[in-house]
Amino acid sequence: MEEKRKIYVTRASLPPFEEFEELIRDIWETHNLTNMGKYHERLKEELKAYLGVSGLELFTNGHLSLEMVLQAFELSGEVITTPFTFASTTHAIVRNGLTPVMCDIREDDCTMDADRIESLITDRTCAIVPVHVYGHICDYEKIGAIAKKHGLRVIYDAAHAFGESIDGKSAALLGDASMFSFHATKVYNTVEGGAVTWNGEDPELSWLSDRLYKLKNFGITGKESVEYVGGNAKLNEFCAVMGLCNLRHVDEWIAMRKQVYHHYEERLSGLSGVRLLSIPSNVKLNYAYMPVIFEEGMKMRDRVYEALSGEGIFPRKYFFPCVNAFKCYEGILRSEDTPVAKRMSESVLTLPIYPELSEEDVERTCRILKNCLS
Ligand SMILES: *Cc1c(COP(=O)(O)O)cnc(C)c1O
Repeated sequence: MEEKRKIYVTRASLPPFEEFEELIRDIWETHNLTNMGKYHERLKEELKAYLGVSGLELFTNGHLSLEMVLQAFELSGEVITTPFTFASTTHAIVRNGLTPVMCDIREDDCTMDADRIESLITDRTCAIVPVHVYGHICDYEKIGAIAKKHGLRVIYDAAHAFGESIDGKSAALLGDASMFSFHATKVYNTVEGGAVTWNGEDPELSWLSDRLYKLKNFGITGKESVEYVGGNAKLNEFCAVMGLCNLRHVDEWIAMRKQVYHHYEERLSGLSGVRLLSIPSNVKLNYAYMPVIFEEGMKMRDRVYEALSGEGIFPRKYFFPCVNAFKCYEGILRSEDTPVAKRMSESVLTLPIYPELSEEDVERTCRILKNCLS
């Protein structure tokens, strides 16, 4: 029998090799490998234009972007966030000496349930860190209104929302600031990389660019002066070049992902026992993920996971378990406090999706999935 090709949940996107080669050639002449070089600066400008923002700083990865933007706002106390996310979101809060307070999520799109935020606010609350899960944009208007009323910062984990917009407004402009990840597994990558974005025209944030720039370079503020306890989170020139090349192709990749998404949708929507998350018509999505919810819960989800794995198809239980069930937060956070997030994490599977995934592979995946259900 013919050996079946393995299909993973994602496949990193690469530009044509010649495009990368053409730009890196120059590095052998300048010997400029890192420390905010010419490609770093060029990528920064091109990303500002692409994302439609005037405030942007690049970082080594998404996680350090989030750690450093939280540090930049000089927060202290409690931060309201959600457990239905990647470890990074909560870790960035905790590693800043802040206390995470978990808000439950909405069943229909897995983002923070804004109606539950106010009951979690105390006199120690300083910020809200919501996540645009699977690229589903949070209820930014309600969250913004609550933050304004209580004098809180809003910093979005927008790792899943590259290139997205809602009501024609760039997702990179929501809240006080947003964090993006350019990790290899994301819709747009710089191998590893990340950014913080904000509205650069806001006079109240005029200090942010300078502070982020210094924080990612050890807090050094002059030849003989260090004003902040910074770290090292500079994006190097090779990653910047990868980012410049990939940016030329990302629109095409998103269009191809959308096609793959529709191939799944045709086969799975309306199927009894599974639910797809609804995509509101006012959101321009990037189709980064293909989450499927199994209404019977964990047993069926795990059965489908095993059946697919047995056939060389590797979906992910993303996000399972919830962050508040992690060993490192035992005795501090409890998954029982966020029952919707707990249930969603037990019933979700993200199926393979990437630009070149063929309709035949989608068909094969769906056939195996349907066999488990019947
Ligand atoms: C990928 C991701 C991060 C971390 O980004 P890195 O670039 O991998 O450090 C943070 N939050 C979410 C939701 C992510 O998916």
